[in-house]
Amino acid sequence: MQRKTPHTRSAAPASDRNEKLKLLLDLSHKLGDPARQMAILAEGNASARLSSETFLVKASGCSLGTLDKGGVVECRAKTLLPLLEKANLSDAEIDGTLLASRLDARAKKPSIEALFHAWLLTLPGIEFVGHAHAPAVNSILCSPRAMEFAEKRIFPDEIICCDVASVFIPYTDPGLQLAQAIRAQTEEFIRNLGRVPRVILMENHGIITLGRSVEAVLSAILMAEKTAKVWVGAAALGGPKFMTPEHVARISGRPDEELRRKMLKL
Ligand SMILES: [Zn+2]
Repeated sequence: MQRKTPHTRSAAPASDRNEKLKLLLDLSHKLGDPARQMAILAEGNASARLSSETFLVKASGCSLGTLDKGGVVECRAKTLLPLLEKANLSDAEIDGTLLASRLDARAKKPSIEALFHAWLLTLPGIEFVGHAHAPAVNSILCSPRAMEFAEKRIFPDEIICCDVASVFIPYTDPGLQLAQAIRAQTEEFIRNLGRVPRVILMENHGIITLGRSVEAVLSAILMAEKTAKVWVGAAALGGPKFMTPEHVARISGRPDEELRRKMLKL
């Protein structure tokens, strides 16, 4: 029997689903804004959590800048998450599972990166995830200094929007292996800092930001991109001169900065 609309089978109430879809499209259009050059053609992707059972993610091959509801797929997390426990699956097996995770069999194929989106959206407080190939960030991630960019900080607003450090992922094959590496490194970050990261940096690839709101995802990615521009400029002058761990910790713990985070919906 055919159902009229895909969302009749969603685990989330229709009003919540529509609101999340609207916010996800807004996030996608901002990430794919041609003026920012962070995601051109079909680069990058974005997702939104609907419930513990399902989430929305960009379909493979669609453009973030012009994304519409036909380019968004609702997927079942419990179909995708078990893949993270497996080694050496073939591309065909992964593709089959991506297609099987759709609630609506007529929907487009989810992005291969739906695997890492599915896992990141299980983290406490995470409602949205964005991924782009931001040019200034990638200038550094494609250089020998990529790990330093993840581990060190150069100015206070970077700490407010991107936290005291970012997760760093050495180059990994996109798809299942990348999702597994992201899970391992993010779990280590959470063990060390006791909280979920805001930024994940993938060597020779790009940036992922995550948060409880569209604003949190956008501010982390825009601030990381601005930081990268400043970083590259400072590197041309013999720097960057990094903030000391004491100064980084001070900014991170200041009550006025905590208030600013709240006002920015971070
Ligand atoms: Zn990518």
